[in-house]
Amino acid sequence: MDCDRLLACPDCRRPALAAAPKGYACGSCGATYIVREGIPVFLRPRTAIVGADADRAAFWDAGWENRNNRLLALDREGVLKERQDYLEYVLKERYPSAVDIGPDVVAGKTFLNIGCGGGFEGLLFAGYGAHYIGVDFSQNAVRLTRDLIRNAGFDGAAFQAEAEALPFRDGSIEYVYSSGVLHHTPNIEQALKEACRVLAPGGTAMIALYATRSLMFFWYRLHAVLCGNLTLKAIEAWMHANTEGAWQTAGRKNKWTKTYTEPQFRTLLTAAGFSEARIQQSYLQVKTMPIVGKIVRAVAPGKLEDLRVGRFGSMLVATCRKR
Ligand SMILES: [Zn+2]
Repeated sequence: MDCDRLLACPDCRRPALAAAPKGYACGSCGATYIVREGIPVFLRPRTAIVGADADRAAFWDAGWENRNNRLLALDREGVLKERQDYLEYVLKERYPSAVDIGPDVVAGKTFLNIGCGGGFEGLLFAGYGAHYIGVDFSQNAVRLTRDLIRNAGFDGAAFQAEAEALPFRDGSIEYVYSSGVLHHTPNIEQALKEACRVLAPGGTAMIALYATRSLMFFWYRLHAVLCGNLTLKAIEAWMHANTEGAWQTAGRKNKWTKTYTEPQFRTLLTAAGFSEARIQQSYLQVKTMPIVGKIVRAVAPGKLEDLRVGRFGSMLVATCRKR
């Protein structure tokens, strides 16, 4: 897909990006952006991923390095089969991304996924006929997304970019989506403002963050206390390092994870410029429960484990609008 008509300079936000010898150049502020291995790198020149952000980027980049790579060896039929399996899984789990978004909602629309990760969401939404654009500050995630969409024969693009400074024009995106990402972003206020800025008036956004009042995060906090962390600061530090355990690659630890209550989430969305927010909490499933899940999986695998026990899951999912 041709995204040039959507692009703006992530540094000055002006729609003045033009092709340059090694990538793009901003005709307004003079910032330049390279294209690396076919992927535009829209990281701001002055602030691009330095200090603590460099650590966060390295953590996620290492996490995505070898994840889902098996998918790249598949032919088109194989990729489409993986997409179908993923769709069935998210429908079974009753994820709002599957239940509330279908081809009737997104086909033919510009669809931005902020923090696109390893490509399954890209396959899902591009497969519905959306003009899919994935952005992520991990180059490995972006490459995986781009290659999977290409191998499936779908329409889509992927850029390396920061959630806090998106490379798109004001009001250029008809559907903005970000699931399980922005709770890892220290400046979530700015990231949500950017999500709202690029959304077209009348457009819809679906944004999901970790829920404070969920069994998973009550359990994590209890675990932190049992491990001897007795101050709020110590508990938070333990959370950062332990909540994405599977991601601990090459000795790196997760640098930032926060959880939100529904009122906190609503306040953030309103401050960012969104309106009409409907916030639903994900379902809690027996198999994901601490201890109980393990017992059920051992005693009655495949039966009780898929049972849902109310909206006490780990995600708050907001669907909101921009006037
Ligand atoms: Zn500029």
